[in-house]
Amino acid sequence: MAVLGLTLAGCVANLPGFPGPARGWPRAGDPFWDVAEGDDPMISALMPNYARADLAFERGEGAWLWTVDGRRFLDFGSGIATTSLGHGHPHLTKAIAEQAAKVMHVSNLYRIPQAERLAARLVEHTFADSVFFCNSGTEANEGMIKMMRRAVYDGGRHDAYRIITFEGGFHGRTLGALAATGNEKYLKGFGPPLEGFDQVPFNNMNAVRNAIGPGTAGIIVEPIQGEGGVRPADLQFIRDLRAVCDEYGLILGMDEVQSGMGRTGKLFAYEWSGIEPDVIAAAKGIGGGFPLGAVLAKEAVAKYLVPGTHGTTFGGNPLACAAGNAVLDVILAPGFLEGVQRKGHKFHAQLEAIAREYPQVYEDARGMGLLQGLKCVLPQGEVQAACVAEGLMAITAGDNVLRLAPPLVVTDADLDAAVEMLRRATRRVLSSSTKAAE
Ligand code: PLP
Repeated sequence: MAVLGLTLAGCVANLPGFPGPARGWPRAGDPFWDVAEGDDPMISALMPNYARADLAFERGEGAWLWTVDGRRFLDFGSGIATTSLGHGHPHLTKAIAEQAAKVMHVSNLYRIPQAERLAARLVEHTFADSVFFCNSGTEANEGMIKMMRRAVYDGGRHDAYRIITFEGGFHGRTLGALAATGNEKYLKGFGPPLEGFDQVPFNNMNAVRNAIGPGTAGIIVEPIQGEGGVRPADLQFIRDLRAVCDEYGLILGMDEVQSGMGRTGKLFAYEWSGIEPDVIAAAKGIGGGFPLGAVLAKEAVAKYLVPGTHGTTFGGNPLACAAGNAVLDVILAPGFLEGVQRKGHKFHAQLEAIAREYPQVYEDARGMGLLQGLKCVLPQGEVQAACVAEGLMAITAGDNVLRLAPPLVVTDADLDAAVEMLRRATRRVLSSSTKAAE
């Protein structure tokens, strides 16, 4: 690769009219390029952008996973709130296998009955009139941002493209979603962020009102900030956002990538507030582990997405939508969401009890439905490592929070087992921190 880099630099520098290497352009002898020159690469074949735990899983069933070396773990991370039906769910795996054997992909140049059916069902059960399918959460947010901007533009406000977003939010890693996220840690080194986002404190209506100007197109909010530390928006705040959008003619967008598809005990979390957004981004649980994302919108927003404005090769293909339909079959079955609510209440109460028992380790428990968090006093990474040592997979979130997002099909026995593991992990971390202090 180093050789390629030098050759490329040399070639470009020799082009007629090219003024020679600009400052910062790598040259032969620069340390950056010399690192690997002539040497075997030191880098792993998989790029090093994840800090992976040394666990490799072979199979799963419900909320449980088995490693290749036969160890069993209780999965309360769910692939980051994604495997909504757990592992190996018979209805989902059957739907995927059957569809894969018929036709996986045809492109959006043709009608896709599986996508039409999934869209119609989402429309029937939400505020939305129309759905666009894509492949991931960040892509759903990109689609939502573009839709919001385009609707305002085509509605005649050509200079209004700014979107208000919130501190502590997370919308994904592509450049638009990153700019909406606005977190310096994720933006650093990737050049100027996409213009047009105004970030204000979460749950703060005065800050929202102060940020609204003639260039504002809309607002994007997570009803519960997942990555930001399992921080629910006040329901009144969500209602006030709706009111302020109505007052100023703004579009209310919600990022329900993590909070949606039953995670909080409603199909989408906005339902708890009693208001309707204009557009939402969904992903994660919608495919139960199969990559699928969606933008759901009211006609007033969606109608501007005419041919040529937006698209994707894979989005909404027959296989992904067969998975999405199978997930919906389960989530919409009578009593399922009520079950998530009941299990969420039970789990929250159990976590609150642990937080009260161990104030040296936890400050409080927070969350909705089966998206729960424990705000840690000790470093959350230590608690997470202790959980893994006890056989419980949990994930971390911002604000020093340990995030617990079991599959929606988790059983009461699984919840009780997780709570026991968490208690043991807490004692483990407490005793090692006491020893370290001695
Ligand atoms: N939006 C929210 C609220 C998320 O939690 C995430 C991922 O954690 C994303 C967007 C990005 O989703 P993806 O990783 O599928 O691109």
